[in-house]
Amino acid sequence: MSLIKTDQLKGMIREVPDFPKPGIQFYDITTLLKDAGGLKAVIDGLADTNHGKGIDTVVGIEARGFIFAPAVAHAIGAGFVPVRKPNKLPAAAERIEYALEYGTDILEIHTDAVEVGHKVLIVDDVLATGGTAAAVAQLVRKLGGEVVGLNFVIELDFLHGRDRLPGLAVRSLVHY
Ligand code: AMP
Repeated sequence: MSLIKTDQLKGMIREVPDFPKPGIQFYDITTLLKDAGGLKAVIDGLADTNHGKGIDTVVGIEARGFIFAPAVAHAIGAGFVPVRKPNKLPAAAERIEYALEYGTDILEIHTDAVEVGHKVLIVDDVLATGGTAAAVAQLVRKLGGEVVGLNFVIELDFLHGRDRLPGLAVRSLVHY
């Protein structure tokens, strides 16, 4: 298996025009994930700057964040916590409602998922407008966690999502 560098990842991501609706260019990571070298490069790339930081918890956002966050947590010796769509979590949960381009969305986290003062890394596949990531950072802080960083596979620079995450360490492997 050849070693793949993070700057080669872009060539492994499939760009699908007009999905899920006209005018949206969808960045499809399944073509990257199915390649053994690509999968290794993406998990190593997300983990490599996060060793030795004392991170307790890696939070993944439903659904595609669940592909990456547990593997990163395993690599850096942290635990994994899911942030889920509404009414999926079985125990007491904290919820946040946030604005989308049209309408609102809701995300939830178990109230006992993050301990006060714990260091938390948030992981997702794509940073687009930043609305989702900002909402998750707020949820973690509500529970008393310290957000030490947000890592993404892909960042859509032209949407300026990181402007909605002021003061937070945002890092992405691939930029468009
Ligand atoms: P946002 O809240 O706008 O930053 O959107 C982030 C979420 O939407 C991510 O979890 C992605 O899974 C998804 N997403 C947004 N835009 C795209 C895109 N162009 N291609 C693939 N996924 C996207």
